[in-house]
Formats: sequence, C-alpha cells, structure tokens
Amino acid sequence: MTKGIVSGVVSNMVTLRVDGPVLQGEICYITTGGDRLMAEVIKVVGSDVYVQVFESTRGLKVGSQAEFTGHQLEIQLGPGMLSKNYDGLQNDLDKMDGVFLRRGQYTAPLDEDRLWDFEPIVKAGDRVQGSDWLGKVEENHQPLKIMAPFQMEGTAVVKSIVPAGQYKVNDTIAVLTTEAGEDINVTMVQHWPVKFAMTNYKEKPRPFKLLETGVRTIDTFNPIVEGGTGFIPGPFGTGKTVLQHAISKQAEADIVIIAACGERANEVVEIFTEFPELIDPHTGRKLMERTIIIANTSNMPVAAREASVYTAMTMAEYYRSMGLRVLLMADSTSRWAQALREMSNRMEELPGPDAFPMDLGALVANFYGRAGYVYLNNGEVGSVTFLGTVSPAGGNLKEPVTENTKKVARCFYALEQDRADKKRYPAVNPIDSYSKYLEYPEFAEYIKGHINEEWIPKVLALKTRMQRGKEIAEQINILGDDGVPVEYHVTFWKSEIIDFVILQQDAFDEIDAVTPLERQEEILNLVTAICDKEDYKFVEFEEVTRYFKKMINLCKQMNYSVYKSEQYYDFKKQVEAML
Ligand code: ADP
Ligand code: MG
Repeated sequence: MTKGIVSGVVSNMVTLRVDGPVLQGEICYITTGGDRLMAEVIKVVGSDVYVQVFESTRGLKVGSQAEFTGHQLEIQLGPGMLSKNYDGLQNDLDKMDGVFLRRGQYTAPLDEDRLWDFEPIVKAGDRVQGSDWLGKVEENHQPLKIMAPFQMEGTAVVKSIVPAGQYKVNDTIAVLTTEAGEDINVTMVQHWPVKFAMTNYKEKPRPFKLLETGVRTIDTFNPIVEGGTGFIPGPFGTGKTVLQHAISKQAEADIVIIAACGERANEVVEIFTEFPELIDPHTGRKLMERTIIIANTSNMPVAAREASVYTAMTMAEYYRSMGLRVLLMADSTSRWAQALREMSNRMEELPGPDAFPMDLGALVANFYGRAGYVYLNNGEVGSVTFLGTVSPAGGNLKEPVTENTKKVARCFYALEQDRADKKRYPAVNPIDSYSKYLEYPEFAEYIKGHINEEWIPKVLALKTRMQRGKEIAEQINILGDDGVPVEYHVTFWKSEIIDFVILQQDAFDEIDAVTPLERQEEILNLVTAICDKEDYKFVEFEEVTRYFKKMINLCKQMNYSVYKSEQYYDFKKQVEAML
C-alpha cells in the first residue's frame, strides 16, 4: 500500500508527499502521537496529495506518517444496523459515553458476536449474480436478505451454502465460484463506497405508487410516492420536526433512516431522546425497531458531516436491494451543503454563488437521483423515498441550496412562519407547495386503479379554489367586508373550508393525527360537494360567515370522531342537512 509523509497542515486540510499511486477519494490514516486519524483524499497533484482529516488535527506535525487503504470511504452493511445510532462515519454512538468519540477512536458498526438465524434461499449449483439473494435472516421482525457481493462482476456458481442455523455476521455462509474459476467466501457483511449510487437493479421507472402518510395536506393535496423525492423548507418552529415524526411513524415504509444534521448538538440529542419514544402505529411497537439514525453536529469534523447523508443513503439503498420500502429523511440538508462549502473554501476552489462549490447543483441532483422505485434483477421491487428539509438562512428561498434542491425534488412542502403563527398546522403553505407527481400519467393511472378517476381532478379543482380564495382575501383586506360582493365572501369561505377541514390537522389528537386514505376520500368528496354548491342565497356577508363557521365546526367535529362511528355519522348528517 502507498505511504505518505505529512508536508503541511492547514486546519483539517493536510498535504502529504506520497510514494505510490493514490485514488481520488481514497481513505488514509495518519499517525500522530498515539492516535490514528482518518482522512480522505481531496486532490492529487503529482506526488503531493491533499487530504481532509475527519477529526481534529490538533498537534499534528509535519513529518508524521500516513498509510493509504486502497479504497474510498465505505461502510459495512449487514444485519444488526436497525435501531442503531451512528455518526456519519458509521461509528456506533451507543458504544461510547455521550455523543462524541475521542479522537482516533472508531467503533465496530456491526455486532460481531451476535448470532443470527440464517436460512438459505439458494442451493449449491445455482447460478447467481451480484446482489442476488442467497439467504435470509430476521432482525426486529424485518425480513432481511443476505446477498451475493454487490461488486461481483458477471455470474458465479454457488459452490456451497451453509444449512439453516445460527451464524455470526463474519462467518462464511456461502462459497461462490466466479466465471474466472475463483472462489469467493461470502459473509453477511457487504462493503460499499458511500458516494457511489448502487445500481444493482434492473430498472428504475418513474415512481407512481402513492405513499400513504395519513397526513392530508400531503396525501390529498400534494402526494408523495414510493421512491419519490420531496423537500421541506421551513424556519425554526414552523413544525418540521412534528411533520417529520408524523411521516416517519405513519408512512408505509419498512425501514426508516434519519440523517440528523444539526446546527447544535442539542438539536441532534433531541432526536435521540424523542425518536426512541415514538410508537409505530402499524405494529404498536417502538418505531426505533425499524429505524436507523445517522447523527451529525456542527462540532463534528467537516468531512464527517459531509459523509453523513451519503452514509444514510447507502444504507437505504442496501435495504432497497432486499426488496424493502425505505423512507429516508435528512434534517437538514442545508447543514450538509454548509459542510460542502467549508471543504471547497479550504481547498481554495473558485467559489460559486454564496461561496458554495460550483458544482453544488450537480451534487444535490446526484444525491436526490439515488432515491427511487426499482425493479430488482429477480423481479421484486424496492424503494427509497427521500425527504429532506432545508433551513434557508432568514427564510430566503432564493439561496443556492433551496434553489438547487427545488430543481430536483418532485414535491415541495413549504412550511410557513405566517401559518404557524396563526396555528394553522401543519403550516404547509397550500399555494406555494406542490407535488409534480399529480402531473404524472403513471400516477394518474395508479390512482384511477386504487382510488378512483375523479380524485385528481377534484384535488386540482380545490387547489384552484385555494388560489382564488387567497386573491379575494387580499381584496377584502383592502376594500373591507362591505367593499366586495357577497359572492366574494362565499368564494373566500369555500377556500377556508378546504383549509380547515382538509389541510389543517392536529398531530396531537389521537384520531385526527392519522387519516387513512379511505377517510381522506370521504372528506375530499364532502368538501368538494360544499364547494361545488352554487345556489347559496345569502344577502349579507355576516350570514356567509355564520354559515361557513358552523359548517367548518361540524366538519372538524367529524374529523375528530372515530371513523364511521355513530358520532361521525351524526355530524355528517348535520353537514348534509345544511347543503
Ligand atoms: P421545528 O422543528 O420546525 O422547529 P416543531 O416541529 O418543533 O418545529 O413545531 C413547533 C411547534 O408547533 C410544536 O411544538 C407544536 O406545538 C406545533 N405544531 C407543529 N405542527 C403541529 C401539528 N400538525 N399539530 C399541532 N401542533 C403542531
Ligand atoms: Mg425541529
């Protein structure tokens, strides 16, 4: 392996003089005092190599020795990751006191002594290719697959496979003979370089399958799909965390991965304390059983912060290869972009807008492009749905991270200070937010088959009404209640009905918090009927206000009642009587 000698140190940027070939992105270890510091190659110029050290370079001297590993930043993938808390470099944060590792300390990401009940899927003599399912184990009730090495090229023949029984992650569970006649010992552990997308699937069609979240402003108004992408910009206190918790708990996903990139350590600690308390409404067990948290705070070294979202994505792709539905959330991707900026500034690269790297757009696009709904080589399907929050400084949606994200994410949930101040939760702005999936013919086809043909046209009609309601509200503001015709008030209140009954939803009410699709359909139909009624005979605007306030009140009572209970039908009857 190539060796190097430190020739310069500027903060975490270290220059090395090397004696052999070095890969862009290769990982090396620099020895200083008793510590081994992990670093990543950023730039190679002849025998001068620039590396970014993943931790503090305090006390690092010119002349220190470095050893290269021959591979890029990679993580280990295997059973035993669920319910773990990792840092961006896959250190197990529960194996130490507090959230931080001592310098030069790395922990094993997988439990090497734990025994897993393994069951083979293939048998000796079968021909397999990379990523094919060789066997299965179960972890926290999730069916996991043990796969042929991802990097394996061509096909191989199963020379032997162990019988069903208990094995450790590093035990050889199968021997494969490659086309070149070479034998490969397969364990339950895979390695993958985090910055490279896994392409171990047959096809990645445009996603089309509604991912039900139980949140009406999403499912009904701006749906996300399995394997889709979305982003949530929002200032502090507008409900990002509440929304994220609701989606993680309720969305139909097998695995939830959270990349928590915090401004301050306490924001991330909050995730560690809150997440383990969340109950999975699908099973009644702890949500954490099928969750992995990748944490990352601003006092961690920049390269580790940069790596964290890639580490999270790589894990998501790993589970997708098993035919699972993965929900990946990153909160917030702005912190990741800041890490990119710090790195590029230290490299003295020519900066792009706001000093972000010139290729920020490409980096963001590549990252979002790794999400998706895929057909695996064996015909099964898997998905990675990605939702990222952005926290634009001063709520400025024109800054580069938001702008570049907007170009690639298909859903946009704009959390808004003004709505949060008015306690209109979730504070997702109904006018600015969108879901591009509503325009996909594949999605329309799916909705036609799974709900009905009128669903999307009805939703689009309500969106138009929201827009119209907003315009009229502005006119009333200027001209006064008496300054506009009574019909204007009717139009305005129709948009309020949509807002109060469909969009606003109390995340802390046992019933209202989750609205299954069938119930959302009923609400959509009811609200559409109220809005489509034209023959309202009001003379004064006060009558309009009184009528619609009463209507809103009844509809909300419905939302708070157990679906199809006596009480529910009682309120429904009262609403229908008013029509
Ligand atoms: P952020 O993470 O954006 O800083 P939070 O998610 O912590 O904001 O939300 C701030 C507060 O807003 C919550 O503590 C809660 O009181 C209120 N809130 C947000 N969303 C909802 C909701 N859907 N239903 C009821 N209250 C909400
Ligand atoms: Mg928060």
